[in-house]
Formats: sequence, structure tokens, C-alpha cells
Amino acid sequence: MNKRSFLKVCSSLIGSPFLAPLFAWAAGEKLKNWAGNLEYSTENLYSARTLDQVREFVKKQNSLKVLGTRHCFNKIADSKRQLISLNTDQAIALDAAGRTVTVEGGLTYGHLSPYLDSRGWALHNLASLPHISIAGACSTATHGSGEKNGNLAAAVVALEIVNAAGEVVQLSRAKDGQEFLGAVVGLGALGVITKLTLDIQPTFQMQQYVYENLPLSELKNNFDAIESSAYSVSLFTDWQKQRINEVWLKCRTDQKPTFEALPEFFGAKKATRNVHPIIELSAENCTEQMGVPGPWYERLPHFRMGFTPSAGRELQSEYFVPRHNAVEAISAIERLHDQISPSLLIAEIRAIAADELWMSPCYKQSCVTIHFTWKPDWPAVSQLLPVIEKQLAPFRSRPHWGKLFSIPPAQLRTEYERLPDFVALAEKFDPHGKFRNDFLNANIFGAAS
Ligand SMILES: Cc1cc2nc3c(=O)[nH]c(=O)nc-3n(C[C@H](O)[C@H](O)[C@H](O)COP(=O)(O)OP(=O)(O)OC[C@H]3O[C@@H](n4cnc5c(N)ncnc54)[C@H](O)[C@@H]3O)c2cc1C
Repeated sequence: MNKRSFLKVCSSLIGSPFLAPLFAWAAGEKLKNWAGNLEYSTENLYSARTLDQVREFVKKQNSLKVLGTRHCFNKIADSKRQLISLNTDQAIALDAAGRTVTVEGGLTYGHLSPYLDSRGWALHNLASLPHISIAGACSTATHGSGEKNGNLAAAVVALEIVNAAGEVVQLSRAKDGQEFLGAVVGLGALGVITKLTLDIQPTFQMQQYVYENLPLSELKNNFDAIESSAYSVSLFTDWQKQRINEVWLKCRTDQKPTFEALPEFFGAKKATRNVHPIIELSAENCTEQMGVPGPWYERLPHFRMGFTPSAGRELQSEYFVPRHNAVEAISAIERLHDQISPSLLIAEIRAIAADELWMSPCYKQSCVTIHFTWKPDWPAVSQLLPVIEKQLAPFRSRPHWGKLFSIPPAQLRTEYERLPDFVALAEKFDPHGKFRNDFLNANIFGAAS
């Protein structure tokens, strides 16, 4: 990193707890992702503070990638030449009449959420942790849970993008139809997202309940009833003993009928204390449970803003399967439990509503995701991924764009019918591949040829 970039990063981070991990890097060694499983291939990081700086910088570069909050586990954000991050003033513009909020691309959900709540507004959903940038999360179709909730990108109403020529392009759901739907889950391939406008709704309160030890047979027999029992449902399992270890139910207090927290839930028992998804770990960094009412942004994520969950010592993979294949896919993975367990910290099953975003794994299909939080042992995990992917292949699975997978590009192509359209859109924004990298060349641009 050159001295100029260092000073910019430091000055923009002082007083900002939301970007502390990047600051920690500036004082240390190589620039790594959150999990520490990969080093970025360059230390050239330019920290832009204004739209004009983004435009001028992009114009001068032949090859660059935008870095968000570095929470991806694979090299989707990597560059061999130049990285740019957005440390702009992080302005937020609320449009109460239009029920939208416009934010700068580098802002995190953890920063935006309390702001919205304090003014009487909410987002429809959040991921398991709030520390991620809004632009980075939407670019990879990051999701929370809830069978009626689209992924986080589904809330995007408009985008401001600096394209490869340094021009500012505005796209909106209302005016730009298909092009907009292609750009929202843009995988960082179209340019620098400098602003996003998101749908908002009146703020709401939630209660979170956890039930322990749901028999797998009950899940299989009552899958739809379980998934529809709360606004957001997460099922944590270690795939041992034919059971779901913990069911996390996040319920809105304004939705009728309200969830009746009986002592049993399909054979699972109500927890009597706050718990961590990995039962042995302290629940100190988890959001409040036990039915205590609280604002949406302090219940929808599993982890609290003030804490860094598990200090990055983990790897993650996640596969989306169409909802109608969920029970069979879960059974297929359960059959691998002896192989998976030695490398697994915990698995999580979530539901996501269909959307219209071309590169979203939920494009025109509601999905269930099977997520794996792995021990940080890449040699072992890399052996397991093809085994899991083979087991899930009959169910038309799609990988999370920001996590570890080994599905060949040719298979991705068959799963993404709009991939050729996306490539054409990327070529329009970036004719010479300025925003491409090895990950995109292999998985997207190679796949389209
Ligand atoms: C502990 C942990 C928990 C997680 N939980 C969830 C979860 O609950 N649900 C889920 O779906 N995922 C989850 N993820 C994955 C995470 O949400 C995604 O990897 C997300 O993309 C991270 O955003 P980021 O800004 O950190 O991305 P980065 O890794 O910094 O970037 C991701 C991509 O976005 C692009 N990008 C970033 N900013 C911009 C911009 N301004 N303009 C254009 N492109 C941009 C990058 O170039 C890259 O292609 C989790 C990850 C971790 C580490």
C-alpha cells in the first residue's frame, strides 16, 4: 500500500467502529478478507471520499475491483492491480413519502439500521450479521431468512454506478426494467456502486424464540408448517443424531396471529436461556432471545453489531435449492453426516422468497439454503465441497456468490438462464473488462463463451 492510501484510510476510519477491521489491517501486515483465509493479490488500496474521486480514479485505471467490508470467503473481490474502497461521508437520505432511503455504497447495514429505526422506519430483512456493506451484500445476493422475504438485493429500488469510462449511470426499478434487474446483483462486474436506494417500511418490533432438538423426522413431515411459523426461521444443525439442534424463530409483534411460544414446537423444547448457534459457545454476542421484544434490527441478525462473531476463524459455503426440493436436499446432506461432521462448526437452513434479479440464486424461484460454517481447514473443506455439490446436483443447487464452492463454470451456466444477458450488460458498462478478475473470468465470462 502506498503512503497516500494509508493516510486516507486512517483518517476516514477514526471514530468509525463500522470499519474497524480495515483499520486493523492498515496497522498490520497483508490485506486479508474477514475470515483471513485469503490475502488480496494487491495492497494498492485507494480510498475514495467523493463521487468525483471515484470517477477520476476509475478513468485512470486499466484494472480494478471495489472492496466492500471484505466478508466474502472467495476471491470475487480480488484484484492483482488495484482495489478501491468507498470511505465517503456515508450520507443517508430518507424519503418518507416515497418510502425509500438512499445510501452511499460503502455504508453498512449496522450503520443504516439504527438511523432508520430512530426515524420510524425499517428494512424488510437483514443477514446474520450487520457488519457488511450494503453495496457488497446486494452485489452477491446476500440474504436473511423468511419464506416471504426476498434477499437483501430485492429491496433495491435504484442504483448509481460509476462505469468503466468513469461516467455516472443511474438505474431504477421504475424506469430501467430489465437492465436494472440485471445490474442489482452485479457481482462487482459493472462498476462502482456509489449509491443505492432501498425500499423501507414502518418500523416494527420483534421477538426471538429458540427451540432445541427438533427431530429431523418432524422437520421432514412438517416442513411448510415450520417454515411459515414465523417471519424468519433459521434451523441450525450439526447433522448429528437425526435432529436440528436449534430452531430460531424471529416473529414480528405486529403480525397476526402472533406466535404463541408454547413449551414445545414440533417436538423441540423451548430454550430457557439465550443460546449461540453452536450450543457450547457463549451467547454474549448473539441477539436477544427468550421472546424479549426489541427493534427489528436487533432481532433479525443472529449477531449483535457491537461484537465480531467468532473472530473470523471459520470458512463458509452455502447452496440454494428450489424450495420444492428442500426436504430431499436436506435428507441428501444428512446422509453425508459422517463425512461432514469432522470439519463442521455448524450448518444452517434458511428460506428465501423468489425475486427477478438475473444473477440472484432466487431468480424466479423461492429457495431454501443449506449453509455450512466450517472449521478453518481449507484442505479438508476443499475435499468436501465436490462431495456436497454432487449430492445436491440433482436438486438444481446454486452456490452463494460470496462463499466457497467448486461447481464448474459450465454447470453454473446451466443454472443461470440470464447469464448471457448479464455478460452483455457487463460488456456495455465495462467493454474492456476493467472490473473483471480471475473469479469473474472463470465463473461468469468464461462460462458464457
Ligand atoms: C460472518 C459472516 C456472516 C455472513 N452471513 C451471511 C448471511 O447471513 N447471509 C448471506 O447471504 N451472506 C452472509 N455472508 C456473506 C456476505 O454477506 C457476503 O459475502 C457479502 O458480499 C459481503 O459484503 P462485503 O461488502 O463484505 O463484500 P466484499 O467481499 O468486500 O465484496 C463482495 C463483492 O461486492 C463487490 N462490491 C463491494 N462493494 C461494491 C461497490 N460499492 N460497488 C460495486 N461492487 C462492490 C466486490 O467487488 C465483490 O465482488 C456472511 C459473511 C460472513 C463473513
